[in-house]
This record gives sequence, structure tokens and C-alpha cells, in this order.
Amino acid sequence: MRIGILGGGQLGWMTILEGRKLGFEFLVLDKSTSSPACKISDLCFDYEKVDEFVKLCDVITYEFEHIPDEVLEKTSYLTLPSVEVLKLKKSKVEEKVFLRKRGYPVPNFTVATNEDLERAADMFELPVVVKSESLGYDGKGQYLIKEKGKLKDVKSNHPQGRFLVEEFVDFDFELSIIGVRNAKGEALIYPPTINHHEEGILIYNKSTDLAFPEAKEITKSLIEELNIVGLLCVEFFYTKDGKLLINEIAPRAHNTGHYTLDGSYTSQFENLIRAITGLPLGSTKLKSPSGMINIIGKSYEEMDIRKVLSVDGAKLYWYGKEKRYRRKMGHVNVVGSSQEDVERKLEYLYDVLFESLKC
Ligand code: ADP
Repeated sequence: MRIGILGGGQLGWMTILEGRKLGFEFLVLDKSTSSPACKISDLCFDYEKVDEFVKLCDVITYEFEHIPDEVLEKTSYLTLPSVEVLKLKKSKVEEKVFLRKRGYPVPNFTVATNEDLERAADMFELPVVVKSESLGYDGKGQYLIKEKGKLKDVKSNHPQGRFLVEEFVDFDFELSIIGVRNAKGEALIYPPTINHHEEGILIYNKSTDLAFPEAKEITKSLIEELNIVGLLCVEFFYTKDGKLLINEIAPRAHNTGHYTLDGSYTSQFENLIRAITGLPLGSTKLKSPSGMINIIGKSYEEMDIRKVLSVDGAKLYWYGKEKRYRRKMGHVNVVGSSQEDVERKLEYLYDVLFESLKC
């Protein structure tokens, strides 16, 4: 069976590494044929060759959101999770409006155009968070506005399109839950993780002994409501007064689930493949306390591989991408005998990987 992946980034790369073990072949469609997943795929196509790509695939999935509509039109009939979910996700505005309409807890927000951005920001106390409607990821297109004068820069950076204007959530911490569901409707969820972001980008995350039953219920409910066949990640804020608010959802493999490659009985990537090919799902249970730290904006030479691999149980995943400022270049998974053990390892790796980097 041949599986197509829309997008050639590291999520596709790990999906292929995991899916090959189950005996599948992989075809990748990406704008650049030198992307990480393309390099290890059986066949790789650029966007112009979409017709050829579709003809050869038995099922298609995606590993990022920003796929051109012309491509989605041609691939949608084979694509899981459905392209409708992906379309919702392509607009930060539509995503939040959907969640609020369906009664899910989200931060207070309003929608603005370039012309009425000031008026929209006036509805909240400063600071506010302004997010451009589309093409944002890892904090790109996102602005923390502490003084109204700064809105001018936002407007000139995004002359077209809408904005989501959100209250600033003074959260205690962030967490996420990944769920998986197959076409028979069987669904499982991974345990929650606590996630640490800096400047809008995930730095590290770790498993937790806390259960968060409400977050699990919300994730299960969204998986059903969106009729997901594949993965769904739900990212939450946990506020200082103990409330859960959804920050965003992602109908694909997620950075906060990379730890599952080493910490879980079945990785998120393997479960994605199982779900979209109609196989039984694998256990989402943790084998041991686990964590993950991203490697950001560093070349292979700048990363001290000896120090990284000196950590007991550490596993390096290097994506082979060209170095760029704030770019995710790889990650390190850690496992430990206890939560504290994992935290100690992450602290050490943070010093090794971020000591000289302002990301
Ligand atoms: P992206 O889609 O670029 O990853 P997100 O909307 O998920 O952007 O935001 C990335 C991070 O920025 C969040 O994980 C959080 O740390 C911070 N953030 C986003 N929105 C808010 C908010 N309303 N209040 C406080 N922090 C926020």
C-alpha cells in the first residue's frame, strides 16, 4: 500500500521512519524536493506533479497546514483527516469561531480587519495578542501588543487579510493532548504533556502525573465532532485560576508528541499510519516518564552532540535541514525513572542546547 504525504517537513520524515516498519511505501508532495521527508521517501513530487502523485497513492495524509487549495482540490478524495478539517485550520479566525460556536472554552477574542484593528484592540485590556489569520506557525504572524502604537507595524506587515485579536492569557502553564481515531470510530488518547514555549515556539515538553480529565474529555469530544481519521492535537492554557482554555487544534502529528517515539508503546506517527490504513490502533500508554527538547536555529556543528548523547536514555533526531534563525533543526527525546529524573535531563539539555542561543 502506498501512502502519500502532503508536506515534506520533519513530521513527514518521522511518519515515514515509523510507517516503513509496518511495510508501507511513501510518496511525498512538497514545494521543495530537498525537504527532509522527500530525501527518505520512495518517490517525491513537487506541486506541479500533483496529478502523477495522486494516481500512485492509495491514501493521503498531511503534515502541515499551508497546502495550496489547488493541490487540496485534487487530493481531497483520498485525504485523511478530511480536507474540511484542514480548511478550518488554515484560518486562525475560522478555527476559533468554530470552537466558540460549539461551546468549547477559548480565550476572549474578536475578529478584525486592517482598518479596524485599533477598535478591536480597544475591547481588551493591554497587552493583547494579535494573530494574522493565515500562514502563521511557531509564533510567526503573532504579536504581543503592549502599547497601541505598535499596531501600526502589524498593519504594515499584513496589509491584507483578517486578524484574531485575543486577550492575553496569564496562564499558569500550557498543556496538550493528542488523540487518534480510525475509520471504525475507535479512538485513543495519549497522556497530557506540559509544554514550555518561548516567544511563540515550543522549547520543551514533558509528561506529567496530573490527569486533566476535563482536557481529555474535550479532546475526545473534538475528535468525534470533527470526525477525525488520523490524529488531533489540542493545545490548552491552564489559567492561574484553574480554568482550561483551548489555544489551538492541529489535525496532524504534533511537536508535543515527538516524545512518543521513545516514551510510548506506539508513537503518534505509527498510530497515524494505523488509523488511516484501517489497522488496529496501538497502545498510547507511556512506557516511562518522558520529555522532548527542540534544537532551534543551530547547525549540526553548533550542537554539542557529545554532551547531548551523554544523557542516559537521550535520543537525537536530526532533520537535516539548512540552518535558519528560529528554525526547528532537530529534537532530543529523553526518558527517565521519574518525572524529576526527566526534568533534570531536560534542564541539562536546555543548558547545552540554548546556552548561547537567543531564539
Ligand atoms: P502558532 O500557531 O504560531 O504556534 P499559537 O497561537 O499556538 O501560534 O501561539 C504560540 C504560543 O504563543 C502559545 O503556545 C503561547 O505560549 C503563546 N500565546 C498564544 N496566544 C496567547 C494568548 N492569547 N495569551 C498568552 N499567550 C499566548
